[in-house]
Amino acid sequence: MPVWVRPSMLAQIVGVVAVALVAGFGLRFALTGSDQHGAPVPRPAVSPAVSPVADGPSALAGRTVVLDPGHNGGNSRASAAINRPVPAGGFDKECDTVGAQTDGGYPEHAFTFDLAQRAAAILRSRGARVVLTRPDDGGVGPCIDERAKIGNSAGAAAVVSIHADGGPAEGRGFHVIAPALSPDRANAAILAPSSRLAGTLRSAFGRATGQPLADYLGKEGMTIRSDLGGLNLSRVPKVFLECGNMRNRTDAAEIVDPAWRARAASGLADGVTAFLLEADSPSAAPTR
Ligand SMILES: [Zn+2]
Repeated sequence: MPVWVRPSMLAQIVGVVAVALVAGFGLRFALTGSDQHGAPVPRPAVSPAVSPVADGPSALAGRTVVLDPGHNGGNSRASAAINRPVPAGGFDKECDTVGAQTDGGYPEHAFTFDLAQRAAAILRSRGARVVLTRPDDGGVGPCIDERAKIGNSAGAAAVVSIHADGGPAEGRGFHVIAPALSPDRANAAILAPSSRLAGTLRSAFGRATGQPLADYLGKEGMTIRSDLGGLNLSRVPKVFLECGNMRNRTDAAEIVDPAWRARAASGLADGVTAFLLEADSPSAAPTR
């Protein structure tokens, strides 16, 4: 039996349905976003309570930050030096690797060095002392154990090892790697603060770049690993930031764009700053 609907009621129904569709679409977009091919991709989780990022020239006075640009420009010409095993926290691992590159030939070592310099300038403008683990992009190494030692002997309040991944071409997004307990169990003291650093960095980097969380590994843009010498040998809070997947066309287009790298640097600097200021706040003091 046909249901009779008055025209005015019909208009009301159409209006309600339209509002519901628009609201539903908006919600779905906010939750998932959409890549260029229309496939849903996860968006970085932005914590509702954003830590204040002080921009003043003395906000980070007295703090040391070590930025570790992954790989080096000379590694590809020094395979013997790069492949030699070095201590990695209960086992040996090769000194370093050549790193990834985009299909267009932009190498990871150049990207990480550029990003480190940009982020260092921002952190210095806030009063931090910033140490880089290599002075230029034309040398060899340093090996992963030496990189960790630089952070330790600088007395760094935070260390970020900067990388870009060479993952599967269809995989997109950035992720942060936090330390797990190393096989020699010597990095136990840094696990909790490094986890906090991973959280502030993930939040700030996602917010600054709009880059989605990695959809091809980890969980919610995070992996926890005990196979990286750089994390196993650190005695100060340290994480790796994998800024994107160089083998993915969409990520690569961002990575080669200097304007994107400027946003990435401010996200990196903001994540470190939030971590350092959070550590200063009374709510972060140890409870007795
Ligand atoms: Zn790398």
